[in-house]
Amino acid sequence: MHSLPKITSIGFVGVGIMGQSMAGHLLAAGYSVNVFNRTKSKTDALVAKGAKWFDSPGEVASHSDVIITMVGFPSDVEEVYFGDQGIIASAKNAILIDMTTSSPSLARKIADEAAKKGLASLDAPVSGGDIGARDAKLTIMVGGEKNVFDHALPVLQKLGTSIILQGGPGMGQHTKMCNQIVIASTIMGVAEGLSYAIKVGLDPTVVLQSIGGGAASGFQLNVLGARMIVKDYAAGFYVEHLIKDLTIALAEAVQMQLDLPGLTLAKSLFEKMATKGLHRDGTQGIIQIYLE
Ligand code: NAP
Repeated sequence: MHSLPKITSIGFVGVGIMGQSMAGHLLAAGYSVNVFNRTKSKTDALVAKGAKWFDSPGEVASHSDVIITMVGFPSDVEEVYFGDQGIIASAKNAILIDMTTSSPSLARKIADEAAKKGLASLDAPVSGGDIGARDAKLTIMVGGEKNVFDHALPVLQKLGTSIILQGGPGMGQHTKMCNQIVIASTIMGVAEGLSYAIKVGLDPTVVLQSIGGGAASGFQLNVLGARMIVKDYAAGFYVEHLIKDLTIALAEAVQMQLDLPGLTLAKSLFEKMATKGLHRDGTQGIIQIYLE
């Protein structure tokens, strides 16, 4: 990379639950935003607000100074970066930022291949859920070079409030794995506490008023626990995406010879949901495993 680009145009690939809001913030901030999504109709609202549709990730990349990807699975990341009409082949003097939760090894591969083409890159997965994306209050965990991080920071600041460089390529994804390991056991605990409240005859809403203000408080209890109580299982975060994350985290832990029994158990419960056809529920749907 000889020089980093002046950032006026931003490409956004993947405008689902998270990307939709995030691309909207970049438009609202005055950037020229170029979009591509597998299902084209999901870009309609953004195009109506001034975003420009292109027919492939590569087309988006060749018209953008920064290209952000927010797709679903590592296989989707592979496809948009390295597939036909992919980003790596088409980007020029650009910064590539993958914000998908994906594997650390794939983040390093993107960084290597990007560097060979003189492109800069960051892995920058997020936490904060659908609400964090909507309110531009995401936590963004970044891996990459410090000068690239500094240059891209004004863009990331339009999306989040906690934005920290954790280390070199892949370290953002490793940090996100720490987050997912915490979340997996936490939401299991929330489902167990609320199942107990319901079975013993307490009013779970009133229980939440007590315990939601104490040491157990947090997004998993206060936001997702509240959705459990009213049986609102609509996805803010898909079970199938959490299974993807826990599979990556467990594989990394096995490699490090680190035993994580909570992660192993939580993963098996979410996999049980998937075998029941509940993979597109939100993660709060785990309470159905206890109260079926
Ligand atoms: P989502 O709603 O499924 O959004 C992903 C979007 O990427 C979809 O619109 C999908 O297209 C598109 N896409 C997938 N593969 C593509 C490809 N090859 N080319 C073009 N577009 C493609 O999921 P999400 O909830 O926004 O999550 C996105 C990522 O962020 C996931 O890795 C997830 O684990 C992570 N994450 C999610 C949350 C959350 O609370 N939701 C929080 C933190 C991190 P279609 O419309 O055709 O499906």
